[in-house]
Amino acid sequence: MKCLVCNKGETRPGRTTLVLERDGTKLTVEGVPAMICANCGDETVSEEVKAKLLKAVQEATTEDA
Ligand SMILES: [Zn+2]
Repeated sequence: MKCLVCNKGETRPGRTTLVLERDGTKLTVEGVPAMICANCGDETVSEEVKAKLLKAVQEATTEDA
C-alpha cells in the first residue's frame, strides 16, 4: 500500500507504541500492529485496532464494572 502522507513510500506491517488517554488516565500500549511508511515513517493504526484498545482502556478505568 502506498503511504497516504508522503505519497512516495510503501507502507509495511510493523509495530508501534500508542498512548491512549481517557479521563486523565494514560495508558501506553507497546507492540501495536501498524502500517509503517518506509519513506516518512508515518505509522497508521487501523480503526479496528484503535477501537479495541479504547474499549480495553474504558473497561480498565471503569470503577463500577
Ligand atoms: Zn510516507
